[in-house]
Amino acid sequence: MVDFHIPVYRASPGRDDSRVSLATLPPPAGPATAAPPARPESRVWRRVRWWIPGVIVVLLLGATSFLLTLSDLHERAEAGNQLVADSLWVRQSLTFQLEREAEALQLIASDLAAGNLTRGALEAQLQVFLRRGRESLVVALMGQGTQSSEILARDASISGMDPLGAAPSATIEAAMAKALRSGEAVFGPPFAAPWGAGLVLVAPVKGEAQAFLVAVYWLERALDGMVPWSFAQSHEVTLSDVTGTVHARRASAGRGRGVYTHQTPLEIPGTTLVLGTDSLRGPPDWITNVIRGGTVALAFLLFWSLWALWRDVQRRVAAEHRLREEVAFRRAMGDSAVIGLRARDLDGRVTFVNPAFCHMVGLPEEALVGHGPPMPYWIPERADEYQRRVDHVLSGQASTAPFETEFRRAGGERFPVVIYDAPLRDADGRQTGWMSSILDATEEKNAEERERLQQERLQTAARLTTMGEMASSLAHELNQPLGAIASYLAGSINLIERGGASAEDLGPALAKASQQAQRAGQVIRRVHEFVRKREPQRVALDAGRLLEECRALVELQARRTGAHISVEVEPGLAPIVGDAVMLEQVILNLTRNAIEAMAEVDPGRRVLAIAARRGEAGGTRISVRDRGTGIPDAVAEQLFSPFFTTKAEGMGMGLSICRSIVEAHGGKLAFERCDLGTAFHMQFPPP
Ligand code: ADP
Repeated sequence: MVDFHIPVYRASPGRDDSRVSLATLPPPAGPATAAPPARPESRVWRRVRWWIPGVIVVLLLGATSFLLTLSDLHERAEAGNQLVADSLWVRQSLTFQLEREAEALQLIASDLAAGNLTRGALEAQLQVFLRRGRESLVVALMGQGTQSSEILARDASISGMDPLGAAPSATIEAAMAKALRSGEAVFGPPFAAPWGAGLVLVAPVKGEAQAFLVAVYWLERALDGMVPWSFAQSHEVTLSDVTGTVHARRASAGRGRGVYTHQTPLEIPGTTLVLGTDSLRGPPDWITNVIRGGTVALAFLLFWSLWALWRDVQRRVAAEHRLREEVAFRRAMGDSAVIGLRARDLDGRVTFVNPAFCHMVGLPEEALVGHGPPMPYWIPERADEYQRRVDHVLSGQASTAPFETEFRRAGGERFPVVIYDAPLRDADGRQTGWMSSILDATEEKNAEERERLQQERLQTAARLTTMGEMASSLAHELNQPLGAIASYLAGSINLIERGGASAEDLGPALAKASQQAQRAGQVIRRVHEFVRKREPQRVALDAGRLLEECRALVELQARRTGAHISVEVEPGLAPIVGDAVMLEQVILNLTRNAIEAMAEVDPGRRVLAIAARRGEAGGTRISVRDRGTGIPDAVAEQLFSPFFTTKAEGMGMGLSICRSIVEAHGGKLAFERCDLGTAFHMQFPPP
């Protein structure tokens, strides 16, 4: 059974952009229901929580700075202590060596005084003395008052220098006086010489009144020779007098930094020198400063990242808030929707249903969500069909066009539904499933049914009207065969009454009577066929045959005005799939209008041309063309409106019904203005 009705409910095809994602949905007008309450945070906590890391960073900064200062102080103290220890060791070594020098010279002087030494032996011993301590340049024998002096030995490498001459005589004399008093060899205070700084060592030669052995030292050489190399590499060493005047300096690896310094008295026989040490080591500041600067930079970085994090969190909180509102809004939308909503994942499991859907199928949400096929609302005998549909949808081949089927309520009642499927995508655009809108079409189906019955009644009424209009012509049409039958029968009776009527005589007359009766019967049958209330049928119809079938009735219509009828059928036309009686009804309505439009024109012009030709896309086109008065613009606008008529006795339903019938056959009904009159075209698609 096929419904040729005008659907009241028309499903609009789904659009491709019907993706269900938050981004594509319209913004909410405001939360319809309250969002699920998150655990409330105290205002104080919310305010202070961002201060805590800041305070921690400041404390960390303070602690680091304190530790660095402490370590700095410690390092300075360590380095200072080390310097003092080293200086004392150098002082000891210098004192020891100079004392030994003094003792050695005193020994030679004593030997000389005892007369144990020849001149040659004295000079030889002094040479040994010079070679042992390379810092002494010359040794001379001098009388008191420095007036007489005799060089006994001299360092061969200092040719051109006069070390004894450079030494101030006052210095030598003061030293001689001191040596005399103590009876031991003594050093004089340091003096400046053109080649550097010098020091005299005076040893009294006992017995021989007013004679002294005087050695002149080169202080720089003394420093070079007596200060250990390793110490000199990391320190600047100076020798100064008690007034602070620096006389000799050893700075083989560069000048001291002035950070770690130490001054210690160098007590040697006869005089006191001051040993100054200045470490090449710089202050530990740069490391501390680098660490301090690095810590501050890191702290800033930390503050900055904290701030960035805070802003990010603020944004996320705001987004989360908006999302919650959005979710609440959408939930309210889903809850209040009268259309059933159902979401499925890619495995076909239901992930969401709204209350309308639960109400529709009479099942609670728990009975649906999380369940996969077969679903409890399926009709058992149609399970295969559903499964095919599910597979089709989930394979991604499903179109978004509506799909009609039937579901079963929990109570067993079946009801029609229309389903729209749309792909469900996540925020990245990846498909995560399908969202379906399900419409309970029970009401629509009922309305459609009522509409269909109404249409059917209207069509039947229209057919009866058509027949009513043709009643007089019909009477005339039937009159002819009936008259002919009557005359054949009367003739036959005459023959019989006269007697001797043989079968050969009666046969032809009775056969003709029978023919006429059949013709009348055919007319009656066609009329009966036409007006009979019946279910529409859907068969493949040949256009030529269709026109031939209704030709008799068209001729009946044309008889009143005497219009000439021409029927033309192009061979090899595609069949029209539909109901013959309904299509005849359309043709008869069009021919009736055409004949009526030609009622007023010159009788010679009354030609009704019916044609079936090849139409668009290989379909078939049936045209009814008249040469009547034509259709004015005002009429054309409302031509297909129900109840529009220009005729006194017209109903105005003809063309409206015709269009409904043609469209129910998938075709189109249109009209065309011609030079003379109008043409109506029915275009049917190929089967
Ligand atoms: P009715 O025939 O009962 O008036 P229809 O719906 O069949 O109802 O036609 C509506 C109107 O369209 C007619 O009253 C007439 O004015 C106009 N009409 C229809 N067919 C033709 C035609 N072939 N020529 C001129 N006018 C026509």
